[in-house]
Amino acid sequence: MNASSLADLVVAFDVDNTLYDPDPDVYRRVVTEFLSLVDVGLAASEAFEHFGALRISGGALERIGLGNPIHDRGNPDVLAVFCLTCSSKDSLRSELGIKGERQALYRRLLDRVTALHERTRIGSFPARLGAEIEVRRFQDSSQELRAFLGEVERLAGHPLIRDWSARYEEIERKQPIARHRPVLEELVKRGATIVVISQGFYEVQREKLERLEIADLFPGRMLITDRATRLAGFDHLFGRVDDLIGEAVRSGGLDIDGELDRLWHFVSLINLWSRKTPWFYGRCLHAIRHDAVHPERALADLAWVLAERWEADPLRFVMVGDRYDKEVLPLIELLGRDVGMTLRLTQGKYGHEDPDDQLPPDRRPARTFEHWDELGAFLVHDLSAETVRPVKRPPAILPMSQVRMDLMDWALRCEYEAVRSIAQTVKQLAESKSFA
Ligand SMILES: [Mg+2]
Repeated sequence: MNASSLADLVVAFDVDNTLYDPDPDVYRRVVTEFLSLVDVGLAASEAFEHFGALRISGGALERIGLGNPIHDRGNPDVLAVFCLTCSSKDSLRSELGIKGERQALYRRLLDRVTALHERTRIGSFPARLGAEIEVRRFQDSSQELRAFLGEVERLAGHPLIRDWSARYEEIERKQPIARHRPVLEELVKRGATIVVISQGFYEVQREKLERLEIADLFPGRMLITDRATRLAGFDHLFGRVDDLIGEAVRSGGLDIDGELDRLWHFVSLINLWSRKTPWFYGRCLHAIRHDAVHPERALADLAWVLAERWEADPLRFVMVGDRYDKEVLPLIELLGRDVGMTLRLTQGKYGHEDPDDQLPPDRRPARTFEHWDELGAFLVHDLSAETVRPVKRPPAILPMSQVRMDLMDWALRCEYEAVRSIAQTVKQLAESKSFA
């Protein structure tokens, strides 16, 4: 056994399908058992597929105010949408009061909202604003959407759907939990600092760690995207932008030099931290370098560290995750492949995506493991600090080429605290050697 000290090392773990639910059989088992109890009139494989496909619409469902199947598969809203869009059993439809002739319309509606929502996440910042206005216009004007939401609400309160929701949770609860604690404790014993880096809601991710009985190993060290975006004054800024989008929808057009255009630029910059982009990881690394013991607070405060300190006190960083596009590639884009270390676990349901042999050698994870036991053995016995090349230069926290410098003077004086703090950061980065 390699007993060398890891005192210099920070090891970050992804949550979903890495620490939590790494075994794809568990998901399959839970959903299959659940669907065997709730006959919606489809063949088992078809029902399984439909149920899983709702996840594609997760963000869109959340946008229209419904539960998100990505975070909560047994949510009554999700089960109501499932029945509304795909139940084909007459007795069930009549018990739930679902009109069969409306179901194709509900499916089209869901596809439409999903496609519109998708467009708000891609393209240039102005293009995303255009898509945002279009979604809002659709939400405000579509009678069909209103009727659909009314139906979901009615069904989500139906005793049968309530019962299903409870059953789903029960099946999920009785699954064996993953036992990663010994590996994590061993890392801590060898001196490493362990952190969690994940996307989603802080409270939801914390509950998962509590269920795994490992939350106490990450006190003040859960770096979650929602905390990266909720800068001081966030509500004030997003509330104003929401009002301005409402005005743009009502007036039928967008004043392209107006307040909305300017504020949208800053909202778009903040939104870059709401997903696992290279810049979100940049924020995490600065937060860790700023305060390795409690980086959570530094992340929320938009803390960053000057180039001189990175040179004097480099950071050895290891990321452990399951998805290539979320936990490997953004870090390679941020740091280059030879700095830090990415370890990939391919056990979970995304493991078959982006296999190493289809990636160029300089874009592959440092190591790939098919099973948690192999990954755990590597972490406990083989990982050594010397094999992890330290981060010596400040990682980027914003794509500076996309930042509109012409707005910064205005931004520094505006009434929105979140905008002022970004402008202040941009100005300091531009003046320091940290300008990437
Ligand atoms: Mg994951």
